[in-house]
Amino acid sequence: MTTSIILKIINLFISSLLSVSIFNANTILLQYKVETYKKEVAYKQEQDEEKRKAEEQRKIEEQKRLEEEEKKKEQRILLEKQKAKEKAKKSPTSPTTQNPKPSKPIQPTSKNIVYPNQVYTYNIMENDIKELANRYPDIIKYKSIGKSEMGKDIYAVSLGTGKTTIFINGAHHGREWISTVISMQMIEEYAKAYKNNSSIDGYKAKEILSNTTIWFVPMVNPDGVTLQQKGLSAFPKSIHSDLIAMNKGRTDFSSWKANIHGVDLNRQYDADWENIKDNVGKPYYQMFKGNAPSTASEVKSIINFTYEIKPEIAVAYHSSGRILYWNFHQNTYNYNRDHVIAKQIGKMTGYSLVYPGPNPSGGGYTDWFLITFNKPAFTPELAPWLFENSPPISVFANEWERNKAVGLYLAEEGHKLSKQ
Ligand SMILES: [Zn+2]
Repeated sequence: MTTSIILKIINLFISSLLSVSIFNANTILLQYKVETYKKEVAYKQEQDEEKRKAEEQRKIEEQKRLEEEEKKKEQRILLEKQKAKEKAKKSPTSPTTQNPKPSKPIQPTSKNIVYPNQVYTYNIMENDIKELANRYPDIIKYKSIGKSEMGKDIYAVSLGTGKTTIFINGAHHGREWISTVISMQMIEEYAKAYKNNSSIDGYKAKEILSNTTIWFVPMVNPDGVTLQQKGLSAFPKSIHSDLIAMNKGRTDFSSWKANIHGVDLNRQYDADWENIKDNVGKPYYQMFKGNAPSTASEVKSIINFTYEIKPEIAVAYHSSGRILYWNFHQNTYNYNRDHVIAKQIGKMTGYSLVYPGPNPSGGGYTDWFLITFNKPAFTPELAPWLFENSPPISVFANEWERNKAVGLYLAEEGHKLSKQ
């Protein structure tokens, strides 16, 4: 009896010892597993971070490389143009001639000044405007109508000798500089047609431009375009971190739409500005309407200039989508008047007309023009739709075909309106 009790006690004692040690072993194993897992996670995070850094570095280097190429290309084009100019100056007179003939005026058939198939920068535009005014001094003039936030001149170019005026502008939005190229190509092709006394799609340039002067501002937002094309390197280091923050932390600026302070210039005009729908609450690469309407220096310049020239018709070229905006709270009479013109632009370009929705959002240049001047205004969206980027240069030729006569057509319509 006693022995069996003793044995039982011993047994109990041994089994409890065993279970404690099994429990301990389990705990140690679990702890070990947790530690290993933690290490693995930390290692993976480290690796991910390294990968991310490497990718960022690669992107920065790639951007640097592209910028270098871009710079070289720009220099090459300017150099070529310079050479062509010098050649043109030298060629009419031979150095051995005692009595040099007066140098021939440059024929309108000479090489084009505007080359559309390139990343069309502010500097190229500035250079081309000056050359165009040189080549066609009797019909092309230009001036600065104000400065961008970073101090770049905003250029306006006038084409024609007519009393009536219309106004065509481009690149309110950084990534939409294909609209700058369309404007520049219009200036050159219309000037050429004027000189040659020829027509474009049946529109007689000389006759039309003798009645109507077309004013162009090919690049409303030089800073935004430059940032979109060249990235941070074109701007002082002191603002890089602000620009990156406004750009969702990205160093790739190809989606950039705003001005340099992150204000969307086509959400800035005083046209139902309070009720703009898709507003972002802070400076951003797109869609921030600003803290008050008409405060960005680019927008102020365009407003003052519009009052100065009082155009019969205004056009703001944008991209993308191949659609045409043409209405904003007009009265019925004006709506019908503008609808006729919009349909004709639609026919020429193949763009679809956008009809008023129940609650249109304002703040755009042509919205403001429509309700301030009670005259027609149009916003054509060039190029097939694409997500947050600039349309590829390859679509330019097609867009030009669709739009090449639009400026002359509207100049003619503007002249008709001026007589009413
Ligand atoms: Zn736009």
